[in-house]
Amino acid sequence: MINEQILKKNIQNIQENVASHSHAGQAPTVVAVTKGRTAEDMRSLVDQGLQHFGENRPQELLRKMDELSDIKDQIDWHYIGRLQRRPVKDFINKIDYLHSLDRDRLAQEVNKRADRLIKCFVQVNVSQEEQKAGVSPEELDRFIQNLAQYENIQVVGLMTMAPYGAEESELRTLFQTMKQLQVEIAGKQYSHAPCQELSMGMSQDYVIALEEGATFVRIGSAFFQE
Ligand SMILES: *Cc1c(COP(=O)(O)O)cnc(C)c1O
Repeated sequence: MINEQILKKNIQNIQENVASHSHAGQAPTVVAVTKGRTAEDMRSLVDQGLQHFGENRPQELLRKMDELSDIKDQIDWHYIGRLQRRPVKDFINKIDYLHSLDRDRLAQEVNKRADRLIKCFVQVNVSQEEQKAGVSPEELDRFIQNLAQYENIQVVGLMTMAPYGAEESELRTLFQTMKQLQVEIAGKQYSHAPCQELSMGMSQDYVIALEEGATFVRIGSAFFQE
């Protein structure tokens, strides 16, 4: 279990960075990525005022929801990982945001299993890495237009994962491209896709992402490092 003093220090650091590197008037949402951490670690984060939590495995997410059911009113859940169709029905109505909508067949399944409007980020493979999930920038508009047929899907924004260990200049270019895409889609005023948000930035690169307009950052290891 994480030492409370270290956790406090890390949280303070992250909050200062977020405040000083985000755009004027923005209050970005910090999603604490707790994959691989215990429910007790999450409890400590909730005690320190954190509210948004990201998980990337359906089983782990469901187990933690169960273990933290006594404080469920204090938690917003974000599903941030690759998602197969099969587990969608088990948790889609229990989460607050899905960050990894990346293909039509997944959208179909989410729509079918949802019993309310699901807030989704469309994942974009902005670095065009072959092994990476996400819609390519060229296909993005068409992909989003096609989602209009799914009454339970709302596209709140775009999400990306930058390549690990990329240079700062490359990261800036990728994040700027994401910002342009977000503004472009928002400008189309699709009623099912307001697309006002940008989920980008992890422990390594969240400061740069915020400077380039991120409104959601997904931070894991920076909370827990010694
Ligand atoms: C693990 C993960 C993060 C957080 O990564 P850290 O480097 O630990 O901050 C963010 N987003 C996704 C999709 C992840 O899988």
